[in-house]
Parts: sequence; C-alpha cells; structure tokens
Amino acid sequence: MFMPIIPQGVRTTCPYCGVGCGVKATPLAEGGALIEGDTGHAANRGRLCVKGSALGETLGLDARLLHPMLRRDGELARAGWDQALDTVADGFARIIAEHGPDAVALYVSGQILTEDYYVANKFMKGYVGSANIDTNSRLCMSSAVAGHKRAFGEDIVPGCYEDFELADAIVLVGSNTAWCHPTLFGRIVKAKEARPELRIVVLDPRRTATCELADLHLPLKPGSDVRLFNGLLAYLAQEGAADQDFIDAHTNGIGDALDVARAGGDVDEVARACGVDAGQLREFYALFARTGKVVTAFSMGVNQSSSGTDKVNAIINCHLFTGRIGQPGMGPFSLTGQPNAMGGREVGGLANMLASHLDLDNAQHRDSVRTFWDAPRIAAKPGLKAVDLFRAVEAGKVKAVWIMATNPVVSMPDADQVRRALAACELVVVSDVVAQADLAPYAHVMLPALAWGEKDGTVTNSERRISRQRAFLPAPGEARADWQALCGVAQRMGFAGFDYAGAHAIFDEHARLSVWRNEEQDCPRRFRLDALVGLDQAAYDALEPVQWPLPAHGGGTPRLFGDGHFSHPDGKARFIVTAPRVPVNAPGGEYPLVLNTGRLRDQWHTMTRTGK
Ligand code: SF4
Repeated sequence: MFMPIIPQGVRTTCPYCGVGCGVKATPLAEGGALIEGDTGHAANRGRLCVKGSALGETLGLDARLLHPMLRRDGELARAGWDQALDTVADGFARIIAEHGPDAVALYVSGQILTEDYYVANKFMKGYVGSANIDTNSRLCMSSAVAGHKRAFGEDIVPGCYEDFELADAIVLVGSNTAWCHPTLFGRIVKAKEARPELRIVVLDPRRTATCELADLHLPLKPGSDVRLFNGLLAYLAQEGAADQDFIDAHTNGIGDALDVARAGGDVDEVARACGVDAGQLREFYALFARTGKVVTAFSMGVNQSSSGTDKVNAIINCHLFTGRIGQPGMGPFSLTGQPNAMGGREVGGLANMLASHLDLDNAQHRDSVRTFWDAPRIAAKPGLKAVDLFRAVEAGKVKAVWIMATNPVVSMPDADQVRRALAACELVVVSDVVAQADLAPYAHVMLPALAWGEKDGTVTNSERRISRQRAFLPAPGEARADWQALCGVAQRMGFAGFDYAGAHAIFDEHARLSVWRNEEQDCPRRFRLDALVGLDQAAYDALEPVQWPLPAHGGGTPRLFGDGHFSHPDGKARFIVTAPRVPVNAPGGEYPLVLNTGRLRDQWHTMTRTGK
C-alpha cells in the first residue's frame, strides 16, 4: 500500500491537450504521484483520459536534465546557472550589437505557462526589439487565430464546452475528438446517450474512432473543406435559412462571400469536388439548415493546412449567416491542441501578435504596450513565423535561437531542414527537462526547466478558462522556471522590468496590461482580466478556474458575441471571401502525395513524456 506524503490532493491542470482537465495530485513516498480527476473543475468534472490518468508514471527523475550544460570542446559539460546565463546574455547581446535585433529569436511552446510566455514575449518584443518569437502553437493554432481575427476582430472562441451538451447537432471537422480531446468527447457521448436525437456529423478524410459515434461521416478529400462549407453557405441561402436580421444588423460582407460560395456550383458539383456522396452531403446540409442549435468544432484537420485560415472562415461564415453564435448550444468552436495554446495567444506569443490581444501593426497599440512595459523599444513589424524562422537560421540571418519546451527537430514539417539549420547556428540555447533531448546535439547551452508537477502558473484551455497549474513536487536538481531563466538573461543584458517576486507578480502584470488604456484604444478588447488585477500570492494560489473576459464584478463569461457586438471597430462581424484551393503540393505537382497527419490515442506529441 503506497502512503502519500504531503502535500496531498493539490489541485492542478493536466499538461497535455487543450481540454485543460483539472487534476488532483498527491505525491507518493516512493516516487510518482496519485492522480485523480478534479471533480470541482468545470472542464472535466472529475474525468480523465488515459494520458491524464497516467501522469503519475511520468514523474521520475531518470533522464531529467538537472543542471545547466555548456558545450566545451564539442561536448556538453555541467556548468553553473550564472555561467550559463552569462553565456546566453553575452551571446545575444553581441549578436544584436553586430547584426541587429532580428538576428536573434525565441522559439517557444504551448507547453509553457502563461507567465513564462508573458515574460518571453516582453523580453523579445519590448526589450530586444524584435518580434522574432514564435511558438509550436503556430503549427496547430495560427489558422484559428487568423480566422477569428478576420471574422470577429479579435481572437476569441465564442462558446464553451457546455454548448456541446446543449446542441442538437455537433459537426466535428478535421477532429478525431475521441483520441485527441477524450474527456470532451466523453461529454459528447453522454449527451448522445441522454438524447439519442442529438446528431453527430464527422467530416474527416479518415474513418477515425470518432466516427463510431457519428450519425454521418463524410470522408471528404483532404483540403476540400472550404469547398464543402462554401457549398453549405450557398445551400443555406437557397433554402432561406439566413438570419437576415442578424446579418443586416451585425455583419458586413455577405454579398461577396456568397458570390464566391455560389460559384462552387450545386450540391452535386460540390460533392464531386469533395469526393463525397451527394446524397450524404445533401443530408448534412439539410441537417445544418434545419437545426438551430449546432456546434461546429474544428481541430488540426482544419488548422494544419495551407488553406487553414480560409477553412476556419468558411465554417464561421455559415454560423454568421444563420446567426448561430454566442448563444447556448451553438457556434463555431476551435479545439486547441496544447494545454496553453490559448494562454500563449493571450500574451501575444506568436510572431505577428503584440500582447494582450493588441495588434503589432497598430501604432497606438504598440505605443500603449511599450509605455506599459516602460520598454526602451518595441518591435515595429511582425517577426519570423516558425517555418520561416528556421529557414532564416539556416540562411545565417538568425544567428542565435533559444528553444523552449518543444522539439522542432521532430515536430516541424521539414524536420531535416531544422536539423541543418541548428547545426549551422552560432548559438543554440535549449530549455528542456530531458538531458538527452533530440535537441541536445545542437545545443551550445542547455538550461534545466521545471516539469509538470513542479511548475507554478496558469494555463488557458479551449473554452477560455484560466486554470492554475500548481506545483506539488519540489524543483529537482538546479531546475528553474522558464520565466526565471528569461529574467536572468534579461537582467544580464541590462533590461529593467524583469525583477518579479514570483509567478503571481507576472500574472498581475499580465492582468493589468489587459485593462491598460483599454478605453483609449480605437478598438477596445474583449480580452480583459479586470477581476484578476492585484491578486496577491494567496489569492493567486487560491484562484479557481474561470473563463475570461472577467469584468471587475461578477464571474467569468461562458459565451461571447451573443449580443451581436463584435470586436471590429464598427462592432460588426465580417464574412470572409473564401476561394477554395487544393493543397499546395497537389497530385501532379512537384510533390505528388497528399499526406494527412494523425495522433496516437495514448501518446502526446513526440512522446518525450508519455513514452515513459
Ligand atoms: Fe489531459 Fe486532455 Fe486527457 Fe483531459 S482530455 S486528461 S486535458 S490529455
């Protein structure tokens, strides 16, 4: 019988998928931890999938990176933190002095906490003065970000998980929800058991485990999603399913979007183009047209595509056309892949974002953030996005890169190119928890990071719910939080503003930025954390999972846009013209194969943790 030691039942959050399940963790005397679902967490209400349930078995210190390492005479050798941070700071400072701020870069991850992300973004955009910070969330989320911004004026998921239970139809597009978001799928299964009339439609080239629950599976050709949803928009117009009052009062651009949609032809033509049965396609279209409460959830099959943003907007167009957004049981819903992809978006962790839902290409926003940070400069243009970033490294334009909590030599689309780039790079800094990481052979400096169970901060899940990740294990060896490593380098480079008392102080700054000069902006944000401004350590420790926006008084916000007011300057949503195009490397082109990505049900990412 294993006897738990203190602390007992620490409430934290699963570090894997974007469902963001609450976990209760109790460390065990002989190692590992007893893991239970947190019945008080609204995302999962006590349920965990296999990955989450097995978290306790991933906590051993074997293979951990416990000390900083520096490459000397071709070999990585143990070093002290001061020496390692001096090396990083000196290297970054020298390269910036010789080649300018765009010669350095950070490549971070949806695995790091919001506080780490916030400091990383502030360091690069406000102090280094370059927007060369991108994240592995680029690969999974950037299409959703861009699609939301185009349609709504702000990167916002309008709904919440409860909508899946309140819907009368759920359309899952490019999403193997059963494997990739299992506890949310469990909620859908239960809803279907309770109400067998709930219709489930899966749009996926592959017949996945998710299809077992589906009333209808449309195995569309890879990349034909836009054509299919354009066809739906044209069908909805033809069948008189428009919510004309909503369109007139709250949207712009329906004419052009509809013209392009109609140009795709009738249902039979669309079915041929998408490679699906015309009768089944008609069945789906008719279901969507007659069902008021419909949720269209999408994931990597939509996002990870050369036309991903148009796919997102083609889906949103159909919801705007029928006015089905921001009300219980309806709306487009982006299922995020990683535990903190959303948190990264909130702090501007992508190369084309600023911070706190402000825009890099807006001079007023840039000035506002620079002033708030009291920063010496502010990045004035977008930085390099993930793929371009590693191309620039290979070309010698980026000479120093700091990679944090991600494994690009395995996870990037052209991993061999990343290996070539890193082999040629002047300074490669790697923050990781694993000593023999795939990146280790390329690293000049390795910094030992905290792993799940040791970290302290916040994450945001797919439904905008901010949850605490709380430490229940001590930091092993000399491992430190990523924000601490960033602050150590920033201070050595002479940057003020990186002297935080703890993660709670970073979160407070993040919350204050969300309300900073908000009324003066030409476009006030919906992303606001008013109620979380000024949390002290005790209040931060006690923070319950809550959905932003958070007005100063009252609780969180489950749904947005139900009032028909969007974040564009005129308050209206925009229909986006989405012209269908086939995958860039279509058959007959330079690359004759179309490949489709998938996941392993019980593994996570490149298996560095779940593989244990
Ligand atoms: Fe973790 Fe996702 Fe599984 Fe929940 S569904 S336990 S967040 S991997």
